[in-house]
Amino acid sequence: MVRICCLLCFVSLVTPIVANAQRFNPLGGVDRFIRESQEHAEEMRQRMEQMRGSLRPPSGVPGFPSGASRPGVPGGSFPGLSGDPSLSAQDQGPAFPLGSIKYPNGTNVLVRNEAGESVTARQHVTIGNTELVIMPSGEIRELSSEGTRPTSESFTPWSMDEVERDLLKNPKLKGFKTKRSRRFLYVYNTSELFIDSTRTILESMYPAVRKYFRRSGIDTHEPEFPLVIIAFATDDQFQEYRRMPQGVVAYYDSLANSVMLYEESDLSLHAPEIAVKNAISTIAHEGAHQILHNIGVQQRLSRWPMWLSEGLAEFYAPTSLQRGVRWSGMGSTNQLRMMEIDRDWNGGKALGAGRVLKRVVAADQLDSLDYAYSWSLIHLLSKRHQKELFACVRQCSELRPFDGLDSEPGKLPSSSEVFEKHFGDEYHEIEKELRRHLTSLDYVDPVKSQTHYLVVAGGQVILTTSPERVEEIQRSIGVGRAQVRRYSNRAQAEAAMNKISR
Ligand SMILES: [Zn+2]
Repeated sequence: MVRICCLLCFVSLVTPIVANAQRFNPLGGVDRFIRESQEHAEEMRQRMEQMRGSLRPPSGVPGFPSGASRPGVPGGSFPGLSGDPSLSAQDQGPAFPLGSIKYPNGTNVLVRNEAGESVTARQHVTIGNTELVIMPSGEIRELSSEGTRPTSESFTPWSMDEVERDLLKNPKLKGFKTKRSRRFLYVYNTSELFIDSTRTILESMYPAVRKYFRRSGIDTHEPEFPLVIIAFATDDQFQEYRRMPQGVVAYYDSLANSVMLYEESDLSLHAPEIAVKNAISTIAHEGAHQILHNIGVQQRLSRWPMWLSEGLAEFYAPTSLQRGVRWSGMGSTNQLRMMEIDRDWNGGKALGAGRVLKRVVAADQLDSLDYAYSWSLIHLLSKRHQKELFACVRQCSELRPFDGLDSEPGKLPSSSEVFEKHFGDEYHEIEKELRRHLTSLDYVDPVKSQTHYLVVAGGQVILTTSPERVEEIQRSIGVGRAQVRRYSNRAQAEAAMNKISR
């Protein structure tokens, strides 16, 4: 994890005010976002493990490990939500009796909904006596085979009206407003600014992602179901809707097929520009997972190598600095990720021996820095080896739900094998190329290039990125007694501060 401390928000020459100041790590939000994704992945993994537990065949069936107690199952490895779809070969031991997973090929079944009405659903995957069916809302539901009956009736996805009506019946979404576009349905109680920004990002991302895959040879299609985004004003409301490990800020749930997120951010008080960039990046990242799962690139509940699925989501998630804070389109330099790599390099780690790359492409769990390297890898491959990258994505797009869970170890390629098949195993060479590529990119340190404020009062000079902090100081000194100057980056602010203190 990258840690930068102290000087970014508060630099003081005379310190009485600052002495009590809470130290703030502007990267904490980025790190936290990653940690949260992983924690959420763990939560979902447990959910899936429970489900798998309920699918357990009569005792004594060999090769069926007990769900949650199974050692070595990596967090974030189960399909079901964004960013989780990978198990290493050693973890791909038979989880179900061989042959127990069946793919019904679009057969429709009659099922009962909560109101007891008969509804036509589509079988997605069958595991033993349990069926995972896609409901007309797009949600995947788990049912016992006895609860379903084959039908010749056609499957009709719900309209946006129907999805909206159904969601608003949920007491936890009481009073929420909605906004729509052709493909997305936003259900929210956030500020209008927040939801409008979310909307702008996703609406501009969707056509860009579709266009990107046009060259891939994958037959993409329009989403069959409305893409639902549920945005909460606060963490508490977000937690109340569905309990998540503390600190989760957003996720794509591929069972529900929705993205859930919230607006409130601790970062916004201390480093508002980083907070907005972070929020945009998070929305774009989760939105990318949702889009890929709905246009025919990634099958729902399929497991992809982490470096690929997370690298792609990050590839779509950069924010722009030059033109204000906004989504800057796929393939732009992801400055937040570059910053992490930059810090890693400055910490003395050099790329070139192949070790970093080898570890990242084999990983079942990514830490914040691994996310950064996954992004950088996809960036390189997309710019310089696009044909091979598309071949790799095509291969993974054929992975079906739970593929590999019931197979013998080694039957499905591991994350590393997928990589090596398309890009070779000369990791040191690729890593050298990666280093050259990264060095050639435009990079502006997003923390240093935040707006900084100098507050000058009497013998004190305080440097901060927090408008909130400026107000607090003004209040404590008395408005009018403090002089506030604004600088567009840290270097300018520090230069000015040095002048004053001389
Ligand atoms: Zn992700």
